[in-house]
Amino acid sequence: MDYESVIGLEVHVQLSTESKIFSGASSHVTDKPNEHVDPVTFGLPGTLPVLNEKVVEFALRLGLALNCDIRRFNRFARKHYFYPDLPKGYQISQYEEPICGHGRLQFRDGEVTRTVGITRIHMEEDAGKSVHSAERQCSLLDLNRAGVPLLEVVSEPDIRSAREAAAYLRALRQLVRYLELSDGNMEEGSLRCDANVSLRPKGEMKFGTRTEIKNLNSFRFVERAIEYEVARQVAILKSGEPIVQETRLFDSESGTTRSMRSKEESADYRYFPDPDLPPLQIEESWINAVRAKLPTLPQEIFQSLIDDYGLSEYDAAVISAEHEYVRFFLEAQEVCKNPKATCNWITSEIFGALKQHGEQFSELRFSPLQLGQLIALIDQDVISGKIAKTVFEELYASGGSPNEIIERRGLKQITDDSAIREMVKEALRSNPEQVAQFREGNAKLLGFFVGQVMKLSKGSANPKLVNDILLEELKS
Ligand code: ADP
Ligand code: MG
Repeated sequence: MDYESVIGLEVHVQLSTESKIFSGASSHVTDKPNEHVDPVTFGLPGTLPVLNEKVVEFALRLGLALNCDIRRFNRFARKHYFYPDLPKGYQISQYEEPICGHGRLQFRDGEVTRTVGITRIHMEEDAGKSVHSAERQCSLLDLNRAGVPLLEVVSEPDIRSAREAAAYLRALRQLVRYLELSDGNMEEGSLRCDANVSLRPKGEMKFGTRTEIKNLNSFRFVERAIEYEVARQVAILKSGEPIVQETRLFDSESGTTRSMRSKEESADYRYFPDPDLPPLQIEESWINAVRAKLPTLPQEIFQSLIDDYGLSEYDAAVISAEHEYVRFFLEAQEVCKNPKATCNWITSEIFGALKQHGEQFSELRFSPLQLGQLIALIDQDVISGKIAKTVFEELYASGGSPNEIIERRGLKQITDDSAIREMVKEALRSNPEQVAQFREGNAKLLGFFVGQVMKLSKGSANPKLVNDILLEELKS
């Protein structure tokens, strides 16, 4: 029998606000344990949570970008469980009345465009961290992360393959980065993903029993864990056994998942509305203000790069991957009016140099204006593509005006006919044997002569002119 995989993702996005969701303690990452804590973080008696307005604004931003309905009247709930890193004994989350519902995310999975439904987005606080020290034979608590704001984005079970799950997650990461809500760094835990996986016979409408895989902290792990889990479930179903609904852990060493605990039911958490926080009522004017400030979204930019700038789908995907690439591209091409060349310079020269030097795009020492000027100088035949690479090296190292670099280093292209003709003549005079061979029909030697002339000109002769004049001189 053939099975179809059914996958739904629960993604936690850690928000990059200044302070925590219910107190003024800093929500920045720090290596020093318990540096960012206050009485609210500890859940001390007599403390009360005060909602951080920025968190609501971020939730609205993401909700609107994902085409969600905004719940004008939403509520916080307490989710109860015991764990040492949760001092209050409950986590403040949203349950029956989350801030956003019924949205969708459109994204590209290879060549196809897919849409996955968003069930809900809710706001909640993060828990702290237990640190188990073998050396000191004890467990320690670090509450820096306790109270850091999260948005949980729950998808509909619309995803049909491991690869598609990874593509969905990449698109979500791209979106939260565009919206400047989070750095979306999976390795550092700013984006955390749980994957729900079940199988059903092809053609069947009813869903099968699912398992939930926790702790997937890279795109590769998401893909590998789901692939493994699908294969595991297929084997169980084929042997006639039922799937047990449970929570599983992915072990990246072995590439397998193993049972962690039987699945808890929501009733186990004893959810109820948090009496310390009044229901949140969101004004229409606030929603409109947030909507008005939304940036152009990745999918729209992708399409515009193809339709308005003539980029290929592949190039459009590379440039639209990050908002900072888009900004750089748009500003540079505005100067040189050559979008294709701008894209090539960004994706090969800039990305190549960054990789070679182990640097980030945000660390570039030159501006898009300067890249645009460099490309324009090539297009105007002031310098050759080869010389442009020399100019680029200096630009990359220390920035500056391409024109000034060219002047100072005497890199201007020689486009003076008679100067080039002199060099051509010299090259022919010094290589009489090759000249004879060329005239006897060895046309391949033209490249050799071009090379000789370029050498004489120290790379600055206009290659097209060199070519033309060489042919004239060789034929005469
Ligand atoms: P819980 O909070 O208990 O994990 P939810 O109903 O909120 O349960 O569902 C969590 C996720 O599980 C959602 O992303 C949803 O799409 C997904 N899901 C639900 N049923 C299935 C299923 N049969 N197969 C795969 N995923 C599923
Ligand atoms: Mg779950």
